[in-house]
Amino acid sequence: MAGNQEAQVPRVGVLALQGDFREHLAVLTSLGAVAVPVRRPDELAAVSGIVLPGGESTVMDKLSRTFGMAGPLRAAIDDGLPVYGTCAGLIMLADRVVDGAAGQRTLGGLDVAVRRNAFGNQNDSFETDVDVPVLAGPPVHAVFIRAPVVDEVGPRATAVGVLDDGRVVAVEQGNLMGTSFHPEMTADLRFHARFLDKARAWAAR
Ligand code: GLN
Repeated sequence: MAGNQEAQVPRVGVLALQGDFREHLAVLTSLGAVAVPVRRPDELAAVSGIVLPGGESTVMDKLSRTFGMAGPLRAAIDDGLPVYGTCAGLIMLADRVVDGAAGQRTLGGLDVAVRRNAFGNQNDSFETDVDVPVLAGPPVHAVFIRAPVVDEVGPRATAVGVLDDGRVVAVEQGNLMGTSFHPEMTADLRFHARFLDKARAWAAR
């Protein structure tokens, strides 16, 4: 599957157990990738990168274990597969969760601690601009929906998007990327394009 052709048109997946996976599939397709829903280990084995969508991390956690996806996903993360998590997907990627539900687990891999629902009820959903220097161009217009915040960035991870008040909302660690917000709900597709660059490099390795 790897090779020149796939390096041009990467085949990537979106974890499709729960959440806004359809939006991600549409964005990745619009950027020229072959984007497929992933629900089974054999589907995961056939992609050069995977997006973990927004939704509800507690449900995604339970379903990923019920469907036998948690182990293969963690193995893929350890292997270096490009993975981009948005919102609940960022929680799934985090090594540590503050204020998690009882028994909530994550896949882990990203050396961060995230705090769920960090913006509180009064500020459930909001939009703001986030400066992300690793992306060329203007600040990212970011949509937050019951979003987590990155409380602690460990030595292996890097904060790449920080709000004016200092709260970290975008992180990167090699082939792992996570944002508290939802670029798939906006017209700004630079995070997805960056993820596809990593998927192309993975396919060509
Ligand atoms: N609050 C949700 C959670 O804890 C995340 C919300 C989202 O993905 N928009 O999983």
